Amino acid sequence: MTDRPGAPEGKRFPLPLSSVTGGARKPGTPAPVATPQTATQNAARAVGAAAQPPKAPAPGPRAPGYAAPSTQSAPAAQRSDLMATEAIRRAMVARVAGQGVKDPAVLAALEAVPRHLFIEPALSSQAYIDASLPIGHHQTISQPYIVARMIEAMRETLRDSKAGNGVTLGRVLEIGTGCGYQAAVLARVAQEVYSIERIKPLHELAKANLRPLRISNLRLHYGDGMLGLAQVAPFDGIILAAAGLEVPRALLEQLAIGARLVAPVGGQVQRLERITRIGKSEWTSETLESCHFVPLRPGTA
Ligand code: SAH
Repeated sequence: MTDRPGAPEGKRFPLPLSSVTGGARKPGTPAPVATPQTATQNAARAVGAAAQPPKAPAPGPRAPGYAAPSTQSAPAAQRSDLMATEAIRRAMVARVAGQGVKDPAVLAALEAVPRHLFIEPALSSQAYIDASLPIGHHQTISQPYIVARMIEAMRETLRDSKAGNGVTLGRVLEIGTGCGYQAAVLARVAQEVYSIERIKPLHELAKANLRPLRISNLRLHYGDGMLGLAQVAPFDGIILAAAGLEVPRALLEQLAIGARLVAPVGGQVQRLERITRIGKSEWTSETLESCHFVPLRPGTA
């Protein structure tokens, strides 16, 4: 790709930056916590399913915007819940590593984010299987493997460059917040994360899901992610969690030079593409693997 895309869209989002920190879960929304029984059963199943005994990735540097873990102060019953879900997550991470994801920071982030908190209680027993799951409005939470793979692919330049080994990405944009899971993972490997969702109830769901995690370096926006976020560009990485027939021009323009965008591209048949901006008007593109995502749609709903 060497053609020069049109001028970036000047359109601003209707909402100001909205922090996801502070506040309480909406009344009537039960806190989705796996029961110890389910969790233990799942842990046993998950460990049994892993080809290798789960290996914890080396603990990465302290994640940028996360509050200190509160495991110590939790009541005993909650603590055993936490320990059970931690064991299940380690097994999930071992499976993802077995599928070829190597970046230790990404594996550590995956291990740290409680995926069951992003899934409705009725499905939370399936939170740590490697599958996408429904989150309502015909959308899904992405499978853990693809979440990890995309973030790894976005980080690769930094990791391989002289200065970059283990360095945290600066500003990152996600298109398609959904329930907020990938945004939470991203917030552990980047200094600032912006995530845009076009379906209002999902934007609200993500806010509710993320609030208890108190992630200070994550901002959620309601709007059309195809336009990007010109007011905070350029980005050191962009991830699309929904597939378009092509990558929107505005997003290519909002990449910093040297930065990478990772996106599923296609209709029925999709491929994961990585686009690197190599100059002011020059981008290169590579196909990573095949994939399957929900469609990228214009406008808001
Ligand atoms: N990131 C999520 C995946 C959500 S699925 C996770 O962590 O699992 C993809 C999401 O992209 C859906 O919620 C869908 O509504 C949203 N989406 C599709 N087109 C969009 C657009 N133009 N702007 C913002 N979000 C969009």
